[in-house]
Parts: sequence; structure tokens; C-alpha cells
Amino acid sequence: MTAHAKVLIAGSGPAGLTAAVYTARAQLAPVVVEGEPSSTSDQPGGQLMLTTEIENFPGFPDGILGPELMTAMRSQAARFGADIVTARVTKVRLDTNPFAVWTGDPGATEPTYGAESLIIATGAQSLMLGVPGEDELLGYGVSTCATCDGFFFRGQHIAVVGGGDSAIEEALFLTRFASKVTVVHRRDRLRASRIMQDRAFANPGIDFLFTHQVTAVLGDGKVTGIRLRQSATGEVQELPVTGLFVSIGHRPSTDVFRGHVELDDQGYVVTRNGTATSVDGVFACGDVQDQTYRQAITAAGSGCMAAIDAERWLEARGS
Ligand code: NAP
Repeated sequence: MTAHAKVLIAGSGPAGLTAAVYTARAQLAPVVVEGEPSSTSDQPGGQLMLTTEIENFPGFPDGILGPELMTAMRSQAARFGADIVTARVTKVRLDTNPFAVWTGDPGATEPTYGAESLIIATGAQSLMLGVPGEDELLGYGVSTCATCDGFFFRGQHIAVVGGGDSAIEEALFLTRFASKVTVVHRRDRLRASRIMQDRAFANPGIDFLFTHQVTAVLGDGKVTGIRLRQSATGEVQELPVTGLFVSIGHRPSTDVFRGHVELDDQGYVVTRNGTATSVDGVFACGDVQDQTYRQAITAAGSGCMAAIDAERWLEARGS
């Protein structure tokens, strides 16, 4: 049987849970489809579940662990009556209202939910190298966010892998802390824009290892180095670094919405006028619509915006 929801929130990172706190407090009884723990990429709580210490989320002068922050946000949303469901959205139909949302078997005739409004907060994932050591050392020297973790690497030699604008931006930022930043890139030239390249080449704190692939992250409990292979010759070497920033791109979690809501050419949900999407009554917040800031606090802020936008939209149509 299809359950009715005034507001359905897909995703449970800082954006989704903030939207849940706000819509729950507005008496809209939101349903949060939080994701499933079986999947590393789309797990409940989002990317912060993969981080350790967070020192830049306002309100925590001594820092807080990522999973702890997400557990607190989840409890706060539940306290105000959000119905948090451990499942994934597997199919949607957004051409009629209530919107049809399936969790579980997408082949089921009846949708799981009929939702008057939908908030997409399914986030994005950092692409990872998939090499030995990377998973185990994530949060222990392997990071995907220089803004978040750069501070922990003061005076240390670290590596950034990737050759796009993100990698170069991260490398430039990390020179504020690190004694040396080595950019490891698989080809012989960068993909990053000219201006970013010029800045990086002019920075004495950065050196480059072109045509090298990272084949393993080394260390027991914390990063002590990376193994590299020269793309052409196959020559293997080890670089002793205490940190590896993986910056090879992001992938927004929008597969299920493709064809139903406007996405940009990189798959991010297009938002206008705050958090509105191409479909009336569907809103998007957090990293799923943000390639620029990608911070927990900006995701939470846009989650609040989506909740207010949804609330006003429901009110205007007399729901
Ligand atoms: P990107 O442009 O797709 O670059 C990804 C980089 O990672 C490429 O250099 C790629 O190598 C490398 N890479 C991909 N998979 C790899 C693998 N398995 N192993 C090793 N290297 C791998 O991604 P991005 O840098 O995140 O940027 C995304 C978009 O945001 C771009 O349009 C970018 O211009 C924009 N952006 C702009 C700014 C800015 O203007 N300030 C800042 C950040 C991002 P190849 O080059 O060999 O493909």
C-alpha cells in the first residue's frame, strides 16, 4: 500500500537531516529515506560518516567526529517527529502530484510513497582510486577534503592525486600547512585551467610527479607513504608522505532522478531561486546540487533553505 507523505526527503547527510529538522518542526511530518548501510557510497549520514575529526562545523570548539555529528543530527530530526526509514529510493515518477517514490523493488506496481513535495538531498561521492590501503586509511591520512583536513598536516610532506582544477585548488590550499605538497598526476599535462596551473607552477611549495599512478597507500593505522608506478616505464617507487588527498572528481548521486528532473552536464541537479528544481514541488539541497562549496555547513544551510521553500510551496497550494 502506498503511504502518503507531505514531504519526502531523499538522503540523510547534513542537508537532508537539516531539512528534516526544519520540516518536522513545521509539523509537516517528513519521511526521510536515509539510504542503506550496505553501500559505502550512499550510506546513511553521507560523506561525514567517512571522516574522523571535524573542526570547522560551528558550535564545536573542540571538534566532533563526523559520525557523532550525524548521529546527533539524526536524533534531533527524530525528536521532532521525522520518520527516518533505512532504505534507498529506487525509482521516482515526478510528472504527477503526489510524486510516486519507490524504495525497495522498483518493479513493484504500487509506489512506496506518494509525496506532495520532494527534497533531493542524496549528496555526491568523491571518486576514489580503488587501490590497496586507501579504504583502510581513509580518515587516517587519506582525505578527500583539504578544507576539512589540511590543518592536521602542518609541517608535513603530503601528496595530492589528480590533475583537474580541484586537485590544483587543494594543492594550493594545502601549501598553507604542509612543508611540501607533491601533486601526482597520471598524464604528462594537467587538466586544470591555465590560471590554476600557472599559480601552482609558481608556488615553491608544490612539486609535480607527472605520468605516475598511485598503486597503493602505505601505512599501518596511519599513512606513511604511497607506492607509485611510472605510466610508461612501469618503474615502481615509494614516496614517503604522511597524507594523501584524493582529488580525482566527484559523482553526484542522481541516477534515480535522471530524466525526471533537470540535471547539468555533470549530473548535478540544477537549482534556481534558492532550492527549486525544474519540477514544481521538488527541491534539492546539499552536494547533489553544489559543485562549489561542498561543506557540511553549506549543505546544512541549503537543507534549511529547501525545508523553508517546501513549506512555503505547500502552504501556497493549500496543502
Ligand atoms: P576533473 O576536472 O574531472 O579532474 C579529475 C582529475 O582526476 C583529472 O586530472 C583526471 O585525470 C584525474 N583522474 C580521474 N580518475 C583518476 C584515476 N582513477 N586515477 C588517477 N587520476 C584520475 O574533476 P575536478 O578537478 O573535481 O573538477 C570538476 C569540475 O569542477 C571541473 O569542471 C572543474 O573545472 C570544476 N572546478 C573548478 C574550480 C575552479 O575554477 N576554481 C575548482 C574545482 C573544480 P585526466 O586528466 O588524465 O583525465
